[in-house]
Amino acid sequence: MKKTTGTDRSITSKWRPATQAVRGGTWRSEHGETSEALFLSSGYTYDDAQTVADRFAGEAHGMTYSRLQNPTVAMLEERIALMEGAEACRAQASGMAAMTTALLCQLSAGDHVVGARAAFGSCRWLLDHLCPRFGIEVSVIDSTDNAAWEAAIRPNTKVFFFETPANPTLDIVDLAHVCGLARAHGITSVVDNAFATSALQRPLDFGADVVAYSATKLMDGQGRVLAGAVCGTEQFINEVLLPFQRNTGPNLSPFNAWVVHKGLETLDLRARRQSENALEVGRFVEGRLSRGAGRVMHPGLPSHPRHAMAMQQMAMTGPIFAFDLNGGREAAFAFLDALELVDISNNIGDARSLLCHPASTTHANMGEEARLEMGIGQGMLRINVGLEDPLDVIEDLAQAFDRAGI
Ligand SMILES: *Cc1c(COP(=O)(O)O)cnc(C)c1O
Repeated sequence: MKKTTGTDRSITSKWRPATQAVRGGTWRSEHGETSEALFLSSGYTYDDAQTVADRFAGEAHGMTYSRLQNPTVAMLEERIALMEGAEACRAQASGMAAMTTALLCQLSAGDHVVGARAAFGSCRWLLDHLCPRFGIEVSVIDSTDNAAWEAAIRPNTKVFFFETPANPTLDIVDLAHVCGLARAHGITSVVDNAFATSALQRPLDFGADVVAYSATKLMDGQGRVLAGAVCGTEQFINEVLLPFQRNTGPNLSPFNAWVVHKGLETLDLRARRQSENALEVGRFVEGRLSRGAGRVMHPGLPSHPRHAMAMQQMAMTGPIFAFDLNGGREAAFAFLDALELVDISNNIGDARSLLCHPASTTHANMGEEARLEMGIGQGMLRINVGLEDPLDVIEDLAQAFDRAGI
């Protein structure tokens, strides 16, 4: 067997996150390949009957079936766990598979969840539509109100579920306070960290119990595959999440896992550069809208109500921000239609700059009332700032503002 230090936690646990993103979890075959091997195999063969019996009995280590384990996926799981500072991780087929698994693996009829009002549309759908169908009670609160979390706790509260920064309003949740409150009440906090990733924010360092991801976003970072992950303690991942995942099958394909490996190699570089670019573009948009045309929601700008908290819990504030045009949907659509460089796209975390209108796309099916309560008006636009020269992005936005008469 080749020397594969990436699988030895006595060595890897000393590495810093940027090193983990390149090397953590690397397991090499007898060929000693530099790039992670892609094991496109659903099943495995065994030298003898006792070997497979021992593996199924959990008495011997080894692969049995790719819904249970796959070497390429296992490398990714170990890498993400190490980056996150988590004991364990399980990869999922998509971000929504990760959120569904993280919630349903631990919830039963009669339990209660407190969830953030501002959230990705499908995350809100899980709370508003899926949980109630199975007798799981849900309270949706303003996640930026520390007192609201405490007030929502009931004797049967099992889970706190939130995003920070939130999609698309960029609400910032006080991680230390809310996760600490959960701990004190025996509640499991589940944090959707898609907007930041471990490169910019590690919720476990602030007392979170479970971190769930859409790896489709910054982790892949190049708009190629859907992927997700859930991180937590060995006990949570192996005893609570794994029985659910193994028997329901929301698994990540080895090919997509391999693509995410390639993405993680540059995550730290991209997350930092895109954060810098997003700040530069954010300052421009704020200046442009300052004469009564609208407002900017960017946690990296002093105008954000929780700017100081964002700077304290995040290394940098990420590629995504939102802005609200006073001219409503008409102004927003005219602006989008005038873009020449930035694409109209509802994806985020990509190396390309992308702009979308949440009210008619990612948050369309939740209804106007819930949207307004969440702070998503018809004039709101959400931008993902990519790796282009930020001056080109700014020039494009400037000409689009001009042509849209904003
Ligand atoms: C995109 C997104 C998801 C869903 O992830 P998919 O990979 O598209 O399934 C969940 N949460 C947040 C915050 C997201 O931005």
